[in-house]
Amino acid sequence: MFFSKFICVLVTFFMSIGGMITGTYFNDKTDAYIANVESIEAFTNTIDTAVPQTDVYDIISQHFAAPLPEGKTVKKAIVIGYDGCRADVLSLVNGDGAIGYLLATGGSAELSYCGGANYPMLNTQKTKTAPGWCSMLTGEWADVHGVTANGVIKSNDTLTLLTTLVEDGTIDDSAFYVSWDGHFVNLNSTYIREKEYIEEKGLDVTFLDADDDAGTLTNTVADISSADCSDFIFLTFEHTDHAGHDSGFCFTNPEYAEGFALAEADGRQIINAIESRATYAQEDWLIIVTSDHGGFNTEHGSLTIQERITFIVTR
Ligand SMILES: [Zn+2]
Repeated sequence: MFFSKFICVLVTFFMSIGGMITGTYFNDKTDAYIANVESIEAFTNTIDTAVPQTDVYDIISQHFAAPLPEGKTVKKAIVIGYDGCRADVLSLVNGDGAIGYLLATGGSAELSYCGGANYPMLNTQKTKTAPGWCSMLTGEWADVHGVTANGVIKSNDTLTLLTTLVEDGTIDDSAFYVSWDGHFVNLNSTYIREKEYIEEKGLDVTFLDADDDAGTLTNTVADISSADCSDFIFLTFEHTDHAGHDSGFCFTNPEYAEGFALAEADGRQIINAIESRATYAQEDWLIIVTSDHGGFNTEHGSLTIQERITFIVTR
């Protein structure tokens, strides 16, 4: 067991060296990364002025708190999460994908950071999936919500917007569509206690786990296509995270770029479903596309700028 693990580490090490030598996906020096990201015109800020990813919580809260615009009768919001999607892949957007479409139709893009407060000096929580999404859904860092890493169960002292917006009557219902079992399927899932809380209180909050991204897309589109769809929907696609772990988190890696293209195509189908709603003209939708963390080489969790920088696209 130990020996096979040792071989695994050795293989990973030599693959990394190989990648560096051949340049297959490893043109990922920090200065090049910063130059690439800051050459993307869509961003309204810079890496130095990146905003905390907890801003997602504020943007959604403010959307629901603001008065209805004239001619609108209901507010809706959706977060389309691209797991492990680095900001540098936004250099690849085109009009066919979700982000490209949002930006072409009045949306804007900001650079954000994950990994806790004190950016860029300290890393108070891991640049991992559970802490990242939890910070956006609760508006707090791990010093408050407690989810410092994957496999840490959040207590109900800090609830997500999925629950609080329904419980306080701001919205009628919400839904959480994913395929990563770490959210609420595994015994040590982030939201397993919150799921119990929702069930005990009888709140209209749906937690639905699919086998894969295709299932997440199906579940989300089915909800949006129903006449009275959920008022707040949060979902994540794993395309980019899987591709990054397989072969490298970098926009110059064709496999990672393909993962992004798949996420963009799925995201666009969701936006199409929203805009096809019979009552769309009367609805005030906030659409957000964001990411929980970046990545470096084939991993994330640490404090490199490539792992800490994310993005928030809103329209
Ligand atoms: Zn992740």
